[in-house]
Amino acid sequence: MADLASLAARIIDGTIEVVDLTSPLHAGTPILRLPPELGQTVPFQLEEISRYDDRGPAWYWNNIRTGEHTGTHLDAPNHWITGKDLDDVSRIPPKRLIGPAVVIDKTAQASADPDYLLDVADLRDWQAANGPLPANGWLLFRTGWSARGEDPAAFANADERGAHTPGVTPAAAKYLAGTDLLGFGVETVGTDAGQAFGFQPAFPCHEAVLGAGKYGLTQLRNLDRLPARGAIVIAAPLPIVTGSGSPARVLALVEG
Ligand code: MN
Repeated sequence: MADLASLAARIIDGTIEVVDLTSPLHAGTPILRLPPELGQTVPFQLEEISRYDDRGPAWYWNNIRTGEHTGTHLDAPNHWITGKDLDDVSRIPPKRLIGPAVVIDKTAQASADPDYLLDVADLRDWQAANGPLPANGWLLFRTGWSARGEDPAAFANADERGAHTPGVTPAAAKYLAGTDLLGFGVETVGTDAGQAFGFQPAFPCHEAVLGAGKYGLTQLRNLDRLPARGAIVIAAPLPIVTGSGSPARVLALVEG
C-alpha cells in the first residue's frame, strides 16, 4: 500500500495513535507575566457575537482576543532580536512544521528542583542511550510541568525573585542551535527557564535557538504518551503575516 494510504488506514484502525499535545485555550490559560514596566500579553478572551439569538438566530460564533504567545504556541525566529531578519510565522515552510520527535524526560529532576536546567551533558547522555537528535525533527523536553497547566499560580511558580520553572543552560541552548533540529518544545510557558532573565546571556534559548532559524513550542501536554523516539509531531500555527508566533494545534503520531 502507498505510504499515505497506509497512514490513513492505520490512523482509522488505531494502530497509529494521534496524541494531542495542545493545552486547551480559555480565559484561564496561563500566560507569561513580565515586569510591569514592559509590554504585556493579554489573556485569551472570547467575545460572543451571537448564540442562536436575535443577534444571529441560527448561528453561534465568537471574536477572539489573544496574544500570539498564548497557550500552546510556536515561537517564530523573528520573535527574538537575534532572528529579526529570519522567518515570521507565516513564512515558515510548511514542511518544517512536521518532523520526527524525540523526548528527553527530566520529570524526576524538575519535580525535585523547579529551577532544573537541561545541560549539554544531559543531551550527550540521552544521545548515547537513544541515538542522535533527529535532523529536521523536534526535541521535546518532558518535565511534568503540564500537570500544573490549569492553575496559573502553580504554573508560574513565582516568588519575589520571579518564576521558578525548568529550562536549559546557556551552553545547552548553544548546543541545540548547532544541531539540525527544527526546534525545541517544552511544557512550560516559554522555552527558557523562569529565572532565565538573569542568565548570561538572558533568555539563552530564545537567543540561540530562534537566532539559528529554529522554532520554539510551548505549553505542550501529554509528552508522557510519546516514546523517547519514533513519534512524528505536526505543529500548526496560524499564518499571521509578519507575526512572531501563533497559538498552535500540536499533534503527535505514535505507533500503537
Ligand atoms: Mn513564545
